[in-house]
Amino acid sequence: MLILDSVAAMQQWSQARRQAGQDIAFVPTMGFLHQGHVSLLDAARKAADLLVLSIFVNPTQFGAGEDFDTYPQDLAKDTHLAKKAGVDVVFVPPAAQMYPQGYNSWVEVAGITEVLCGASRPGHFRGVTTVVNKLFNIIAPRVAFFGNKDFQQLAVIRRMVKDLNLPVDIVGLPIVREADGLAMSSRNSYLAQEERQQALCLSQAIAQAQQLAKNGELRVTEILHRLRMSIESHLLVKIDYLKICHQDSLQEQMLVDENSVLLLAVFIGRTRLIDNAFVMEPVAKIPL
Ligand code: AMP
Repeated sequence: MLILDSVAAMQQWSQARRQAGQDIAFVPTMGFLHQGHVSLLDAARKAADLLVLSIFVNPTQFGAGEDFDTYPQDLAKDTHLAKKAGVDVVFVPPAAQMYPQGYNSWVEVAGITEVLCGASRPGHFRGVTTVVNKLFNIIAPRVAFFGNKDFQQLAVIRRMVKDLNLPVDIVGLPIVREADGLAMSSRNSYLAQEERQQALCLSQAIAQAQQLAKNGELRVTEILHRLRMSIESHLLVKIDYLKICHQDSLQEQMLVDENSVLLLAVFIGRTRLIDNAFVMEPVAKIPL
């Protein structure tokens, strides 16, 4: 397994492999890998001749006052997991190479970036689409893997790839959860013991919404009212957003149908966590 920390070296490697007739699967991450990331690597490993993992805490997708400076890192553990997953190249570009002096170009998707996380984190998706575009240009993958954990991000990437005719297939994979239901996230490492316990309110809200829909309650206002009460009973938790939206447009709905996705973001202490699920899916096996 190669570890490349130069944009030029990465680009040369990719060009040479492609010229030799090999195709590349790509998994972009910010590192501090967990089983959610590993599930992407496992699927990607089977999808192409070669597998590239990028680890880059992208400064342009963080807002002022967010956790860019404290984002967890463990390159030794990440490279160990990458090797086990059969990664060919770990690409760890320095920020100064990705955004050198004078850098001034941006890729921006309109519409679906203006709601949910886009409304709470202005500029976040511009940073994401810009860096994913750059990584696609450097690595030239045939296929790239993303998690449904970041539901809106995946929708934004799909939109960008379609709109800009990027020659990359996008694959989305299910959320990997801890045994008690909490969606795996690098940011879970921020949680103190009591916060970790209260973080279960996210997955419990999903199970509650699915149970309500199963029992015939399809009015979004009523479902969200009940969820809000449950979530707000957790004293360390503050809701950022809690919405039921159409899976494609991400517009809020009045009534639940098979396109309805519950999307939520909460602050637990200073840690912001997100989760989502289709409301009409079978009730998540999460203790209520
Ligand atoms: P991150 O390192 O958090 O930027 O995530 C890198 C990729 O891993 C993104 O496509 C995420 O959606 C995906 N991912 C993060 N957490 C999970 C999870 N619990 N299950 C599945 N995919 C995940």
